Parts: sequence; structure tokens; C-alpha cells
Amino acid sequence: MRGANLSRLEGNRYQEDHVGISPEDEVVRICQELIRIDTSNYGDNVGPGERKAAEYTAGLIEEVGLSTQLFESAPGRTSVVARMEGSDPSLPALVVHGHLDVVPAQKEDWTVDPFGGEEKDGLIWGRGAVDMKDMDAMILSVLRSMQRDGVKPRRDLIFGFFADEEAGGAYGASWLVDNKPEVFEGATEAISEVGEGSRRPSAGSGRTSCRPRRRASPGSVSWRTVVPATARRSTPTTR
Ligand SMILES: [Zn+2]
Repeated sequence: MRGANLSRLEGNRYQEDHVGISPEDEVVRICQELIRIDTSNYGDNVGPGERKAAEYTAGLIEEVGLSTQLFESAPGRTSVVARMEGSDPSLPALVVHGHLDVVPAQKEDWTVDPFGGEEKDGLIWGRGAVDMKDMDAMILSVLRSMQRDGVKPRRDLIFGFFADEEAGGAYGASWLVDNKPEVFEGATEAISEVGEGSRRPSAGSGRTSCRPRRRASPGSVSWRTVVPATARRSTPTTR
């Protein structure tokens, strides 16, 4: 298999050197590095980090030979899109997307640096560890593995990493749909974070926050503790 992969990737020194690297080998590092880029979304365009996170994300994708497009709806409000060509052009495209922004974090509310991406007790801690730099990292590590190993999906995959999800998406996904619809040409479905981290229990019992414990070991997420939060908190701890 290794030989077959190498022949398909002939001419790309980076890929030849990195065939055999699995998503599990780098997903934790990517998640940590994304958390360390403060992409707090205050809802008023003053957040510092979406551009930086977008450039970091685009770099990871370009590094394995897939072209990216960066779109900036307003200064610093940057989204990344990349399309991986499928083998069957008769099939519709699938959008796989995440967001790069996070809900702001008050350091005094945390027992760790919310932007430290610290690994502690075998878990990764930080703002965005659940919503949703974890999934961003999983998407990126799988995308990179597919590129390195010459894996072609049957249908086109459109990867999107958007700004501004936490404040409504006007500067991210909504802006792209309105201003750059060609980016999503041929797509009929999209998958992302819905159902990932938090859920609302039955009426009257308040909001439920799930505190996930993310294994540092290869690529797995285990859910161990559910912390019911009452009206004491205005911001769910999953964010
Ligand atoms: Zn989210």
C-alpha cells in the first residue's frame, strides 16, 4: 500500500515524507494549537483572532497540497474554504464545516488558562475544546490524512471553517452564502457540530452543560460527566 500511495503522490516531497501519518498522530496537537489562538467572538468585531486562526487552518490544508480560499467579510472576520474533488462528478457535493470563533472566556472563572490548550489528567482543556476546535481538528487531521494517502472521496467535499458562528454567523457562514454562493456549488447537504456537546433537557429542569473529558490518546473523545447547571450560569460551560 505504501508503494501505491507514493506513486500517486509522486513529485510532492512533503507528502512522500509524511505518508503513514494518521489523523490520530496530529489531531491533539492541532486542537491545542487552535485553542491557543484566542478567537473570542464578542459580537462587535473586536475579537482578535479569527484571521490568525484562519491563516493557521489554511496553512495546514495547503501544506498537504489542497488549495484554500480565505474570505474576509470585515477586517479580521475570516473564513476558510477548500474543495476536495470527488471521483464521481455525478454526485452532489457535501459540505463539512466548523467554526473558528469561540464564546469569550473570563479567566477568573477557569481553573486553567482558557487559551492554554493545556493537557491535564489526560484531557485537553480550554475554550473551544468542545465547541468546536475539537471537531475542527478532527476535520483537519482527516483531511490531511486523505491528502497524504491519496484518498479521493466519491463526491466533492467542501470544507468550511467559518467566522462568527457564536454571534449569529452574519460575518461567517451567512456572509458566504449571500456573497460567495459559488463556493457551495453542487452541494446538497452539510454536516457540522449540531448535537455535539450540549443539549436541553426537559422543560423546567434548566440548561444542561456537559463537561467532556477528551482523551489525549489518539483521536478519541469520551463523555464521562454531565453537570446540570441551573439558572446560576448565564453561559453554558460547554462553550
Ligand atoms: Zn459551536
